[in-house]
Amino acid sequence: MNDKETEVLRIITIDDNPAIHKDYRSILIPKEKDDAFEASAAALFGESELESSAPLLPPFDLVSAYQGQKGYEMVKAAIEENRPFAMAFVDMRMPPGWDGLETIEHLWQVDPDLQVVICSAYSDYSWSKITKRLGHTDNLLILKKPFDNSEVAQLAAALTKKWYMRRQTVMIMKNLEAARISAEMATIAKSQFVTTMSHEIRTPLNGIVGAVSMISEFNWPNEQKEYFEIIQSCCDSLCDVVGNILDFSQIEAQKLIPSQERFDLHNLLSSLMRVMAMEYEDNHVHLRCDLDPAVPEWVIGDHRRLRQVLANLIGNGFKYTSKGEVGLDITYGNRNEQQVLTVTVRDTGIGIEQKQIAHIFEEFVQADAGFTRVYGGSGLGLTIANRLIKLMGGELTVQSQPGSGSTFNFWIPLPQAQDVKPDRNIEQISEDQFASYDNVRILLVEDNHINQKMVAHMLTAIGCQTDIAENGQIAVDMVTRQNYALVLMDCQMPIMDGIEATRRIRQSENNVNIVALTANTTHEDKQRCFDAGMDDFLPKPVNKLRLQKTLQRWLGDKVNPE
Ligand code: ADP
Repeated sequence: MNDKETEVLRIITIDDNPAIHKDYRSILIPKEKDDAFEASAAALFGESELESSAPLLPPFDLVSAYQGQKGYEMVKAAIEENRPFAMAFVDMRMPPGWDGLETIEHLWQVDPDLQVVICSAYSDYSWSKITKRLGHTDNLLILKKPFDNSEVAQLAAALTKKWYMRRQTVMIMKNLEAARISAEMATIAKSQFVTTMSHEIRTPLNGIVGAVSMISEFNWPNEQKEYFEIIQSCCDSLCDVVGNILDFSQIEAQKLIPSQERFDLHNLLSSLMRVMAMEYEDNHVHLRCDLDPAVPEWVIGDHRRLRQVLANLIGNGFKYTSKGEVGLDITYGNRNEQQVLTVTVRDTGIGIEQKQIAHIFEEFVQADAGFTRVYGGSGLGLTIANRLIKLMGGELTVQSQPGSGSTFNFWIPLPQAQDVKPDRNIEQISEDQFASYDNVRILLVEDNHINQKMVAHMLTAIGCQTDIAENGQIAVDMVTRQNYALVLMDCQMPIMDGIEATRRIRQSENNVNIVALTANTTHEDKQRCFDAGMDDFLPKPVNKLRLQKTLQRWLGDKVNPE
């Protein structure tokens, strides 16, 4: 809507009687004030207002048409020029052309928002006949002739105002929609940026993690060993931070979809408890886990995300507890006809103030956020845990008293798996069960020289023979010439990326095991790899243990020479 429209509201009169046009003009246009206008204005607003010559009606631009067809052309032209009429006074009988109803039908075809007053001296159409023909609408009123001047003034004031307010509302809604779309685009751009940054950070991290995991295996004096442990732990923290930021942006962009896979829940819990106890337990804080016997072993859900949530809650429990225990109570049962897992993580730590509790699931919130804060952290852990639980269809709640510890409780649907054959889930293999892979030939497809070196070193340490392809094109050629037990495929490479290379390998009906080894770790990236025909997905940074687990998963014992 332009300024002109806000200043001057346009009204069209469609009537075959010239005297009517004159009447409307005298009622509605103040500068052409005459007796009729004075009378109507006085009736509308009272004598005193009239005497003070205050503006009585908004300024109208009054236009005349003497036949329905002509009125229609003028309304159509006004729409095309973007100077629409706010309202029309339409006579019922206008021989020889269209009558009022036919005219209105045509008017609303080109301008459905036009407010119409139909002026009828005859009762040739009843209200029910009119609504039957024109439909039920709030854009139409009937003015019976002979009309009262003040009625005309009131109708014009009220209907033009209504038309104006409606246009304003539509414009505001359009602006809001545009703002919503641009905010959505900004979120997508931000999420893309975070994904790219995560890739850029993970790639060199892969080199560091790999190098440290290799070098720390030598027989170093204790002091050096400690330094390696520090580097390793810093890398782990950095990976967690990068992972959290990536998860958060994926959740925001609604791109994170929990998987539905069969997994061994008991195994997940025992391995997690082992890792958490090793990492956090000391003489002062103990880790306890009570597992209800009803909790099934094999379930269907997203084991990585469940593990992530549990690790976060347990990690927080230890972080904010200096004495006592972090205890888990895990039960299984039905809720709203779903089989659900319920987990309570209770600690004996510092607790949380009531006023903070309402906010701790909000992003970047830390109960103690001042410059003097004692505990590190990004304030994203609980936000992600809360959103992941929601995405998995459950709910996370918290109860806490400052000084008496905190209790985090969540449930998620986790149906029991029916078909329970043991599978090659890498999480379920302990280190001492690894097969040896002497003389197994692996193709590593990787363009980054540091990563080539690191992964090749790890593979050699595991006993494999490694060939390297600098890009997808070379890899496609190499797999046609040589039988490989497994291909480790980077995704982003010059000349031909890993996705295209995999597609071509599969097109040639080669069933070699292909595992993505990539710093692109979003759900979409993973899906793209599987869609192209890859068998598994190993996110960077990778260390020897994870590489070994992946080999075990795909090669099992069948290539073990013993
Ligand atoms: P952070 O990375 O800061 O730990 P979280 O999202 O995991 O972020 O937690 C948000 C805030 O909630 C923390 O900064 C802390 O103040 C509070 N909090 C979380 N868990 C506990 C707990 N078990 N005991 C006390 N406070 C907690």
